[in-house]
Amino acid sequence: MKPRRKGQGIDLEKIKKMKANGTKGLHLDEALIFERSCEGRIGVAPSRFDVPACDAEKSIPRKYLRDDMGGFPEVAEIDVVRHYTRLSQWNFGVDSGLYPLGSCTMKYNPKINEEIAALPGFSRLHPYQGEELSQGALELMFQLEEYLCEITGMDAVTLQPSAGAQGELCGLLMMAAFFKDRGKPRTKIIIPDTAHGTNPASSHLAGFKVVPVKSEGRGALTANAVKDVMDADTAGVMLTNPNTLGLFEADIKEIADVVHKKGGFLYCDGANMNALMGIVRLGDLGVDVVQLNLHKTFSTPHGGGGPGSGPVAVRKTLEPYLPVPRVRKRGKKYSFDFKRPRSIGRLKAFYGNFAIMVRAYSYIRRMGPEGLKRAAEAAILNANYIKERLKGTFDLPFDRPCMHECVFSDKVQQPNGVSTMDIAKRLIDYGYHPPTVYFPLVVPGAIMIEPTETETLETLDRFIEAMKNIADEARNAPELLKNAPANTRVGRVDETKAAREPVLRWKAKPPL
Ligand SMILES: *Cc1c(COP(=O)(O)O)cnc(C)c1O
Repeated sequence: MKPRRKGQGIDLEKIKKMKANGTKGLHLDEALIFERSCEGRIGVAPSRFDVPACDAEKSIPRKYLRDDMGGFPEVAEIDVVRHYTRLSQWNFGVDSGLYPLGSCTMKYNPKINEEIAALPGFSRLHPYQGEELSQGALELMFQLEEYLCEITGMDAVTLQPSAGAQGELCGLLMMAAFFKDRGKPRTKIIIPDTAHGTNPASSHLAGFKVVPVKSEGRGALTANAVKDVMDADTAGVMLTNPNTLGLFEADIKEIADVVHKKGGFLYCDGANMNALMGIVRLGDLGVDVVQLNLHKTFSTPHGGGGPGSGPVAVRKTLEPYLPVPRVRKRGKKYSFDFKRPRSIGRLKAFYGNFAIMVRAYSYIRRMGPEGLKRAAEAAILNANYIKERLKGTFDLPFDRPCMHECVFSDKVQQPNGVSTMDIAKRLIDYGYHPPTVYFPLVVPGAIMIEPTETETLETLDRFIEAMKNIADEARNAPELLKNAPANTRVGRVDETKAAREPVLRWKAKPPL
């Protein structure tokens, strides 16, 4: 694959000036909508009033009224349609190509689940609609809770938290409430360096002091390391499994025993169930609390900035503390139960992000137990395939079978002055969204690749070829990496300038 040079064979400057047709090769170039404005042009002409006009000044205080519409773009309807359509095509998403962003599970989600979530019976439900008119939705929530119990091996689930991190907070607040209830509040929580960054943040928010433990170069926590620090003032251990290195925390059962002996809980961050579902049940491994990210594993697209959903599954001992309301079934009728005196209370308005629950329900029903297991197996296989084929080309700090993602570093390329950031930027020229970089922190210059189960062998092979080409370039022509991306509308941007000198007004005309 030969790298293309920017604007090869075409007069870029001329085309940039000709914003009129908005195209530049296959790249759609788009001006600000304000620049398309033409005084007096109208997008939609409303029909003539058939009611008497009212005097705005009589009903709205003067200070809220504008004298003119200065500063608003005046454009035709088709200009608006094209403007936003082009902007949407500037985006890169799972629907446009491989998006191997580690720890994020940017997988393709079957469109059928979108259609089901959009059925009017679901999408038009109003949260104030009475229980008797929402029986189907309540039943779906009740059953989804049961499925998630089955998948995790736990006893009860809340669907309320609206993100993985909020699920963590929910689980930790329940643990805190449990100890407070017994008159013996605990103040600390143990978190290994292989845990996700949200874990210490959530612990802090829940009022715990974080006790960090090192994985000591093994890439996983040992029961002995926990034994050294676990005491009667520690609420428990917060483990990410699979951990942020994409490795399975194999000592998890022994760790659970150590924690339980001291009366603590084992919290598992289960955001990456994509590697476990149908294969292991965390409850069977001694986990007491686990949150899932429905927007990673269970068919809601992740990363679009939309809402998330982080249900929390618990053992019976913690069930009384789950947030209100809980969905309850009496005979054939479903209702919300608010009378739960030991509950930590509400975490969110209404009942959680319902449309995400619908997608998860529909995904689980269509996949079935065997399908879920096969998805997890394929996710693991794909990650191991990439790991095996790229090892040697890139430094692999933990050369062990991985789960759904694998972590390389830039150690081999560093002597040529090439860093992880350069490799990531060069991948953009090859048409790939870069993997997660510089995370997890335990690996300096980390390159964390999560292909997901939905990519074909051919796609993985093309990605591997691109990575190998980039490694060749790093040896023979490092300047290509230093100047990357060269094939995009903007080149290497200043990583911090946007935060330090934000351009928030269109009049300042940011360079296109
Ligand atoms: C993504 C992720 C989180 C955070 O989830 P959000 O929904 O973004 O809050 C927590 N832990 C792990 C392991 C994750 O991968």
